[in-house]
Amino acid sequence: MPTPIAETGAMVSLDAQERERRRAQAHSAAERLTGQDVVGVAVTWVDNSGITRVKSVPPAKLENAATWGIGATPAFDAFLLDDSIMSGRYAGSPVGDLRLHPDLDRLTLLAAQPGWAWAPADRYTQDGEVHPQCARSLARAMTTRMQAAGFETSMAFEVEWTVGKGGTEEFEPACAGPAYGMTRLVELSGYSRDVLTALAAEGVDVDQFHPEYGAGQLEVSVAAQDPVSAADTAVLVRETIRAVGMKHGLRTSFSPKVLTEGVGNGAHVHVSLRRDGTTMMSGGPGPSGLHAHGASFTAGVLARVPALLAVGCPTAASYLRLIPSHWAGAYACWGLENREVAVRLVTGPVGSGAWSANVEVKCFDGAANPYLVVAGLLAAGLAGIEESAELPEPVDVDPASLDDAARAERTVERLPGSLGDAADRFEADPVLTAAFGTELAATIVDLRRAEVELTTGMSPEDVVALTRWKH
Ligand code: GLU
Ligand code: MG
Repeated sequence: MPTPIAETGAMVSLDAQERERRRAQAHSAAERLTGQDVVGVAVTWVDNSGITRVKSVPPAKLENAATWGIGATPAFDAFLLDDSIMSGRYAGSPVGDLRLHPDLDRLTLLAAQPGWAWAPADRYTQDGEVHPQCARSLARAMTTRMQAAGFETSMAFEVEWTVGKGGTEEFEPACAGPAYGMTRLVELSGYSRDVLTALAAEGVDVDQFHPEYGAGQLEVSVAAQDPVSAADTAVLVRETIRAVGMKHGLRTSFSPKVLTEGVGNGAHVHVSLRRDGTTMMSGGPGPSGLHAHGASFTAGVLARVPALLAVGCPTAASYLRLIPSHWAGAYACWGLENREVAVRLVTGPVGSGAWSANVEVKCFDGAANPYLVVAGLLAAGLAGIEESAELPEPVDVDPASLDDAARAERTVERLPGSLGDAADRFEADPVLTAAFGTELAATIVDLRRAEVELTTGMSPEDVVALTRWKH
């Protein structure tokens, strides 16, 4: 069965020449790592439930891993967040073997884990073909499709997290200071220094670090990169923060909701497009200065946000976060600098639009696989460009403050309120299911329904407890 990944040819298949290139690259990398006292290279991928999984090799085995891959069961596609394995239409079988090939272009020393390095993996079959359910390869393939259409895409994931005291399954905030309070930076001064120091040593280009609204909540934002690099960075930043927390005896949660009350952890995604070096997000004749292509891309994303929730809000707890008036963007509408819409246009200060203007998708959370998020957004936005989609009127109030009739008139839809509804919307979306390919699209739907089954009958407290320390 042909798949979009195969159709695009975005990934090289691993012929003898490509394997030799990777072997030579790994050979010199391994020498370097040994000189740096590295004893293990963590090779990660993110599963469809948003959990980063890993296999590791010592430097002496890196050459073999880069050339032939590290064996991994295809059943990983079927993992739920509680490590149970569902039986899906195209995932869950104990039979077969995939190969994890580390991308050594992104090899990084893990600054908060001395002796360890990290590289993200692409997943191939034993034949050296891209695995049709490899999320990172799909993200790369969609980026290539954007390039073929004439667009350079930049993205960045904001990382919000919650720091809790160690030694308990419950959540006890590790700091008592108020939202955005300097007190929190004082309380967590050494920890915060270690986070920033580690990220800098790893080459992560941090834009900003601040205490967030929720109890014990912090945030790091980073500079935009190409979409696959942005997703890689999201993984690296999170695991680095987790490692720093461990050293300080603290627990880290990226879960959409650590307590049933209050705001949750989002993972907002910023996207901007350039064509022939010019931004499509600013200085144009469209609404709020968008160029026609920027507007159509945004309209394509907006039209598919309800379906994209199956990717960007992938767990039952996501829907405890995604509620009105919690800055989570619970309504499918867009607006300029509006923190209550799913799609917020960020123009930046007057004069900075050429480099800073972007579209922020606010509704997604930290349980999402960032590679799938990248792929889904690009598929949706590209469809918008191809359809010359037009944006509805922007919304410049909290959509929750409008009555039903006013929302209907402005075509402002409340986003799906449950994981099951999001799965139904994704399944019914021809653009997204075609881009993801039959197997991966079916697996996402099967997994979401399996999680609905797992959590049916649970109280919100139980769902939060189940999810709290998983992501
Ligand atoms: N924590 C909020 C969320 O759940 C976002 C707060 C903000 O606007 O940065 O997405
Ligand atoms: Mg924030």
